[in-house]
Amino acid sequence: MSLTVDSGQTLQRCLALDIGGTKIASAIVKNGEIQQRKQISTPQDDAAQVMHQTLAQLLKEYEGQFDYVAVASTGIINQGILTALNPKNLGGLAQFPLKDSIAQHTDKPIGLLNDVQAAAYAEYQLQNPNDVQNFTFITVSTGVGGGLILNHRLLTEPNGIAGHIGHTLADPNGPVCGCGRRGCVEAIASGRAIEAASSQWDDPCDPKEVFVRFRQNDEKATALVTRSAQAIANLIADLKIGLDMQKVVVGGSIGLAEGYLPLVQSLLSELPAVYHCELESAKFGQDAGLIGAAYWVKDCLLQAKNTGVVYG
Ligand SMILES: [Zn+2]
Repeated sequence: MSLTVDSGQTLQRCLALDIGGTKIASAIVKNGEIQQRKQISTPQDDAAQVMHQTLAQLLKEYEGQFDYVAVASTGIINQGILTALNPKNLGGLAQFPLKDSIAQHTDKPIGLLNDVQAAAYAEYQLQNPNDVQNFTFITVSTGVGGGLILNHRLLTEPNGIAGHIGHTLADPNGPVCGCGRRGCVEAIASGRAIEAASSQWDDPCDPKEVFVRFRQNDEKATALVTRSAQAIANLIADLKIGLDMQKVVVGGSIGLAEGYLPLVQSLLSELPAVYHCELESAKFGQDAGLIGAAYWVKDCLLQAKNTGVVYG
C-alpha cells in the first residue's frame, strides 16, 4: 500500500468496507464508533463487473461523509489487487483491482489490508502496548487465518501474505488443503475440516452439533474437537518459539465455541514452559474488520504525515 496525505487533511471520519466471500459490510467509523452500517451480498455472478458497480454505488452513498477509505478484504491484498492462496475461492474476483476501482470515485486516501489482519489490529487496540509488543490473532472458523503484530507493527508487507498461519504444517500425513499443500492446520482444525469428518459418521452432523456432543463427552466428537484444538495449540507453540509471541487472541465460530479455548490452553500447558503463551478470547464481533481497518489505515496515514515516510 502506498499512501500520501497532505498536511492540512483531517482524519476523523473513515469510510470502512469489509469485503467477505458472501457479504460486504460498510460503515462510517469515527472515534472507534460504527455509524450508518450497511450490509449487502458479495457479487457472485459476473462478479468483477458487478463489484465495480457496487463499489461505485457505496462511494456515492457515503459521499461527503468521510476523510479516508479503509478496506478489509478476504484474500490477499497485494499492491491494491485482490488475490488468494487459492484464487478459485474468489471466483470472478481473482486479480480484482480493488484500490483502483475505489480510486475512480474518490480523491481521498485509500488503504487496504486482509480482513483477518484488520481484525488482529482491532484486537491489539485492547492490549496494553507496554506489556505486549508481539501479538497474534487467530480465527478458527470455516477456515483458519491470522494476523501477526511484531514489535507493535502489523505485518502486511511486502506481498500481503503474512499471517496466513492456517497454512503452516500440522500433519504431513493429513488431508490435502485447499491451498494445495498436504496437512495444513486449516485442513485439520477448521470448521470445514470438522464437517468433512463428522459428515461421514454413521450418525452424521454439522460442526455445531459436534460441539454439543463434545460437551456431552461423546467419544467421537471429543476426539475430533481435540484434533482441531491440538493443531491450534501446536501452531501457538510454534509462534511462541519462532517469534517470541507474548499473547494470542483466538476468535471465529470454532475458536469461540464453548469449551474450545480451555482445551487449547490445556493441550498447550502439556508442552514445556518455553512454549506457553497467554491466551484470550476475541472481544470484537462481526465489526472487527471495519474497526481494525479504520484504525490501521489512520495510523499508516498519520505515520506518513508525521515522518514523510510512506508505508503501509
Ligand atoms: Zn493450506
